[in-house]
Amino acid sequence: MSDYRLVAKDYKEAPTVISVGDELIGSDELCIIAGPCAVESESQIYEIAKQISEAGIKFLRGGAYKPRTSPYAFQGLKLDGLKLLKEVSKEFGLKVVTEVLDTSLLEEVYPYADVLQVGSRNMKNYQFLKELGKVDKPVLLKRGMSATIDEWLLAAEYIMLGGNENIILCERGIRTFDDSVRNTFDVTAIPLVKELSHLPIIADPSQGTGKRSLVKPMSLASIAAGADGLMLEVHHHPEEALSDGFQSIYIHQLKELLPQIKKQAALMNRTVNLKHQAPQIV
Ligand code: PEP
Ligand code: MN
Repeated sequence: MSDYRLVAKDYKEAPTVISVGDELIGSDELCIIAGPCAVESESQIYEIAKQISEAGIKFLRGGAYKPRTSPYAFQGLKLDGLKLLKEVSKEFGLKVVTEVLDTSLLEEVYPYADVLQVGSRNMKNYQFLKELGKVDKPVLLKRGMSATIDEWLLAAEYIMLGGNENIILCERGIRTFDDSVRNTFDVTAIPLVKELSHLPIIADPSQGTGKRSLVKPMSLASIAAGADGLMLEVHHHPEEALSDGFQSIYIHQLKELLPQIKKQAALMNRTVNLKHQAPQIV
């Protein structure tokens, strides 16, 4: 029997709309968050931020502290990465979405982030979730890779119980028996969460599939399923990326995808929150 209360539809019928500065998440306008898996260098983040901004994107993602499976893998540029995110976001007028790995880093990351990302691996770090409940910035809560919908909503409940009502849920795929993809992207979670909760839910088909060619179909499927937005890993040279290059789309693919996202959104009676009309490439 589920025990979430504040995040439940029964508690609040109207969908929660979250303000990120002057932008909204969870409104009729879909939000598109794009950027590299990790901030790798000044030139890399500058180039990607510039190009996605030209494509119309308003939210930049990029990890400065990376939770990597191997301790030998690139761990992120840490504070230097956060500073670079801030610099480019100012230059191109972007909101920053970046991950906080634990409570000890909250103070450091806070001034550099517009949205604090909680990674899949941390969804059940309950002490950390309690701390995030005291923060006055929106939290993007990834689904744990082995979390049920119930556990995920209860994780959100921890944050909301602490007083922070600004939570964006993010479906990013789950571990199943099927190893033909990195994760099994659970499209069903999107309309189901919409039935159960008033919180906005976005989709991350990059983490969700682990395969560049699957990002477009799962992006469109997510919107058809009712997602409030997408988080997309985008890289100008994915073959050289220090993390998740195999699931990062090229910038030209993002530019081709945006008009298709708009078409799919229109079918759902929704629009897409972009800086300008995305070019009609299709
Ligand atoms: C990411 O967004 O790069 C990431 C590490 O996500 P997740 O926590 O969903 O694996
Ligand atoms: Mn990644």
